[in-house]
Amino acid sequence: STALLSVRNLTIDAGPKSEPIRLVEDFSLEMSPGDRVALVGESGSGKSVTARSIMRLDPDFRISGTVEFQGQDLLKLSDKQMVGVRGHKIGMVFQDPMGALNPLMTVGEQVMEPLRIAGVSRAEAEKRAKSVLEELGVVNAEARMKAYPHEFSGGMRQRVVLAMALISDPSLIIADEPTTALDVRVQEQVLTLMDKVSKERGLAVLLITHDLGTVAGFTDRVAVMYSGRKVDEGTVDNLFERPAHPYTQGLLQAVPRIDQTVPRLLTIAGAPPHPANRPTGCAFNPRCPKAFDLCRQEVPELRPSPDGGVVACHLYPAAGKELAS
Ligand code: SF4
Ligand code: MG
Repeated sequence: STALLSVRNLTIDAGPKSEPIRLVEDFSLEMSPGDRVALVGESGSGKSVTARSIMRLDPDFRISGTVEFQGQDLLKLSDKQMVGVRGHKIGMVFQDPMGALNPLMTVGEQVMEPLRIAGVSRAEAEKRAKSVLEELGVVNAEARMKAYPHEFSGGMRQRVVLAMALISDPSLIIADEPTTALDVRVQEQVLTLMDKVSKERGLAVLLITHDLGTVAGFTDRVAVMYSGRKVDEGTVDNLFERPAHPYTQGLLQAVPRIDQTVPRLLTIAGAPPHPANRPTGCAFNPRCPKAFDLCRQEVPELRPSPDGGVVACHLYPAAGKELAS
């Protein structure tokens, strides 16, 4: 197949084996080379857990399913083989740039580190670090490489983290809330930069965010998660114009617009359920303005949606099946 990343039936459990807590259930996602996909949901939806499990960052999680990357199931690799994937073939950018950086190491040493670990000479690593920092708009890159992270602003630190993710020339970047810790103006700068660099490099990006508002200009496709499941997926245009799932409709109404002053998330009352205590049927039913009897009885399966994507909602029954109301 031509897929770059093919996640199939990913199910993730945490907690004791006798009382497992299901964090993610039956999650599937396909990405082709150069695809830009956003994984969207409120805090606790399972989106970060999914991303972290693709990279096998949490050894305590029990993960089943397959995570095929360039034809290789990452879940079957040894820990040592996984080190060669993480930060090399797949770059990672997380929310808090300060947490991702070592305060005692110069910026240059940190950007070079993935290459040095891979056995690249110091001179060559320096050259490439300078070039990737310049690509990311860092002025005076050679001099700035001798500085320490605390000497950089938040936005500049996130550029350094991005440089670390890019220096090994990965084919996929997983960015988990990469701009959430930054102020709005800097958020936009970093996203614009990621947009430009990923397009120039033909790099696939999986952008994880709670904010549907940030993805419009950045991604081609959006997958929406709720309470551990993918509930909606479609192209950005279709999803913004004709959102199928009531949760996506609510998220969109919560996106702040210039012409309105309604606080965010006011439009979806309540909070997502705790994964140990999901309601029967559709997990969204206690918050859903369109819930009906079937919603409280059966978990809706993912099915083709009217706009060409997929949706898990009883409002969209399988072809040939009538609504039971
Ligand atoms: Fe709402 Fe029912 Fe659809 Fe769930 S299945 S989103 S409760 S209408
Ligand atoms: Mg998160």
